[in-house]
Amino acid sequence: MKSEPLLELKDVTHEYRVGGGLGIVGRSTIKALVSVSFSVPSEKPVSIGLIGESGSGKTTIARLILGLLEPTYGKVLYKGKSVSEWLRKNKLAYLKEVQPIFQDPYSIYNPFYRVERILKAPLKKLKIVNDGKAIEDMIISAMKDMGLRPEDILGRYPHQLSGGERQRLMLARILLIKPRLIVADEPVSMIDASLRAIFLDQLRVLKDKIGASCLYITHDLDIANCVADSLIVLCQGNVVEEGSTNEIINEPLHPYTKLLLSSIPAPSPKARWKDRMQLAEATSLSEQARVEKGCIFWPRCPYAMDVCKKERPPMIEVEPGRRVLCFLYVK
Ligand code: SF4
Repeated sequence: MKSEPLLELKDVTHEYRVGGGLGIVGRSTIKALVSVSFSVPSEKPVSIGLIGESGSGKTTIARLILGLLEPTYGKVLYKGKSVSEWLRKNKLAYLKEVQPIFQDPYSIYNPFYRVERILKAPLKKLKIVNDGKAIEDMIISAMKDMGLRPEDILGRYPHQLSGGERQRLMLARILLIKPRLIVADEPVSMIDASLRAIFLDQLRVLKDKIGASCLYITHDLDIANCVADSLIVLCQGNVVEEGSTNEIINEPLHPYTKLLLSSIPAPSPKARWKDRMQLAEATSLSEQARVEKGCIFWPRCPYAMDVCKKERPPMIEVEPGRRVLCFLYVK
């Protein structure tokens, strides 16, 4: 019998209200996510890459999982219970199990706290350990494991650290908390390209060490290829393709994924991200509003048929674990 997923999004739609401000008549809604469903299994730790350009809805998914937003329709379940129920009834347990890594760690650190206080706070708050000496030993060990030199870093404030050090501090924090699920939202986009590969390697070591699953959110297919076992491709708030990383990179099915792959010049995580994914600007939320009917991708799809302009395509399971949202695969 298949066990209950660790995390499950069931038919999740999220709408944002826009307009209606001073001097603006009327309000409208933008669908950031449309009927999104996927799950993270609980049997063994996995890494799932959530890939999409700016405005595709991937950060909205992260915010829903972290309980910073509620779905307009559908459910976000962790171990079978809704995230809102976890946060209402057992918030500390949820925070212990699900931890984020943000794009800009600087924004989440209290600028008046020194490094040791930043690392001590979650250990005490989440009641992981109370003994002062044990806390100090754990902090020093976690910092060393993540390539930080405690003798250099302890006693400093966040603004006195480099971007790479702040991100590794976030990894050390996660190593201390030992969550079951890490939600990493573009964690390397603000660190220097030369340090990116080191960070991704440390993330992999960390995940293996604590046996955590990771939902890695990125606009960069090369990075997703380095860190994820499987991929979920998002386009304008829709999951358009899902499968193993190997299958998607080598045999993409959806025309949008094919376009994403063709716009990547070189498979190197050290390359500058700005040089890739020219597609990003082309499919913003504002363009989404223009596609009112049919497949969200039809205006740019070289294979568009009449039906694509009139009806939303079905999600086709071409084989177990391999899904695509496209009329081309209807049998
Ligand atoms: Fe292209 Fe039609 Fe498939 Fe949409 S459903 S991706 S328009 S072929």
